[in-house]
Amino acid sequence: MLSERAKKIKPSATLSIDSKAKEMKASGVDVISFALGEPDFDTPDNIKEAAIKAIKSGFTKYTPVGGVPELKDAIINKLKTDNSLEYDRTEIVVSCGAKHSLYNAAQALYSPGDEVLIPAPYWVSYPDQVLLNDAVPVIVDCREEDLFMVTADSLKEKITKKTKAVILNYPSNPTGYTYDKKTLEGIAEVALKHNLFIVSDEIYEKLLYDGLTHISIASIDKEVKKKTIVINGLSKSHAMTGWRIGYAAGDKSVIKAMENIQSQSTSNPTSISQKAAIEAMTGQQETVSIMVKEFDKRREFIVKELNEIPGVSCRRPQGAFYAFPNIKAHLGKSVGSRKVADSSDMAMYLLEDAAVALVPGGAFGMEGYIRISYATSMEVIKEGLNRIKKALKALS
Ligand SMILES: *Cc1c(COP(=O)(O)O)cnc(C)c1O
Repeated sequence: MLSERAKKIKPSATLSIDSKAKEMKASGVDVISFALGEPDFDTPDNIKEAAIKAIKSGFTKYTPVGGVPELKDAIINKLKTDNSLEYDRTEIVVSCGAKHSLYNAAQALYSPGDEVLIPAPYWVSYPDQVLLNDAVPVIVDCREEDLFMVTADSLKEKITKKTKAVILNYPSNPTGYTYDKKTLEGIAEVALKHNLFIVSDEIYEKLLYDGLTHISIASIDKEVKKKTIVINGLSKSHAMTGWRIGYAAGDKSVIKAMENIQSQSTSNPTSISQKAAIEAMTGQQETVSIMVKEFDKRREFIVKELNEIPGVSCRRPQGAFYAFPNIKAHLGKSVGSRKVADSSDMAMYLLEDAAVALVPGGAFGMEGYIRISYATSMEVIKEGLNRIKKALKALS
């Protein structure tokens, strides 16, 4: 018999849709995938070279559990320059991806029965990571009118004596929206008043458009910083999803607990990837801006095209590489004997009938929407949108 814990959780929805799409591809179907959340760009050469050098020079053994000092210093420097945040080495822990950092934070912070506030739409792993600690995910529904972002007032309504933390993600996966300073201040005020931890997932920080700059909630003041665990990583900003490097910054006591948990589970993140990460953070940053420029072009195109499809409306995302169009006008319709009742039916219909893979809003806790990743070439985007348009037209 499996443990109660193992029975409670489900596989990541984004990863399972992608594997179904891959199966179809393997059987010869020309599937277009808008499902996956990773840049389509290759890892920059200077980063690869640093990894090759690490291998050749024999940097292939255990390192300190929470990362080598040189990488911690690069992270400290980044947090200072980009986010006006001051940390020392005891306040940083490097893990096997930001997802691992989030997992360690969950393990360090949540006890059985604790309630954790998760604004919806949310990144798919947050509720399951809470459940893995026998804590209770409390979903706070956001509205499209508020650009899908949580407000201080709606958080307040869900707070009880058991509330332990709130998880924020900005720029957001799946919506691409981010918080302005005033909203962050309002959220921080509520969190401090109720002594909540703030887990702040800022992995899309570098992917912002229209000249917007990222503000970390931890930078509001010292008190907020003390209660915040900043989560970040290199997967999205430096096209390094396979290298598995992420990190957390926060109060020494929390970081130490996260490091202890890591020392009893994975030990250090890969030595070679750590060397690559140092180069990613301290080497040229031009490839980041090239990537952002290209994403921006696709964003403009995809939003314009989506809004021209009857029954679809899409607001202009501010960051990340996702569009989150409203498809409510098409739900409840049918084609033949197939009824498309909700976003999951829609995703399945588009995959099976139009060979387009994307993630239903329901997977992010928000019905009536679909997530389209534009981390794919312009040609693929064009063809995929044509297929969606045709498939939606067939519904009545
Ligand atoms: C991709 C992603 C992560 C995980 O990134 P890794 O560093 O590859 O583990 C975390 N949070 C959000 C919101 C993401 O989209």
